[in-house]
Amino acid sequence: MAYDDQNIFAKILRGEIPCNKVFENDHVLAFHDIHPQAPTHILVIPKGAYTDVADFGENASPDEVSGFWSAVSQIADENDLKGDGFRVIANTGLNGGQEVPHFHAHILGGKALGPMLSKAA
Ligand code: 5GP
Repeated sequence: MAYDDQNIFAKILRGEIPCNKVFENDHVLAFHDIHPQAPTHILVIPKGAYTDVADFGENASPDEVSGFWSAVSQIADENDLKGDGFRVIANTGLNGGQEVPHFHAHILGGKALGPMLSKAA
């Protein structure tokens, strides 16, 4: 799938749409999800144009990949999630329920999150 530079996270990266930023470095931007599913719900996105986790894994540079996952860990730490634990989700494609076609990881925490998938899944 070709990258659509009109997706909402591309617009956030370009500063065309505001976000509630929690972290930024050369490779990564992170901000609070607009519809939080847990007491803490942060989205972490690479600054590069990658559609999903598979595109990112195949095409991102080693610096981008390590920078992304280091940021995930740092953000979890800075938001006091490491002690009690947290969940990282990367919805991918149709079956994964991905809505925004710019790779992102959801960091969820702040309470016991229960089973990984809903009973309906
Ligand atoms: P996906 O289903 O693609 O994994 O998740 C997309 C996430 O982006 C959803 O949790 C949704 O609430 C969030 N989202 C969609 N539009 C915006 C927005 O404009 N700002 C922020 N902060 N989050 C958004």
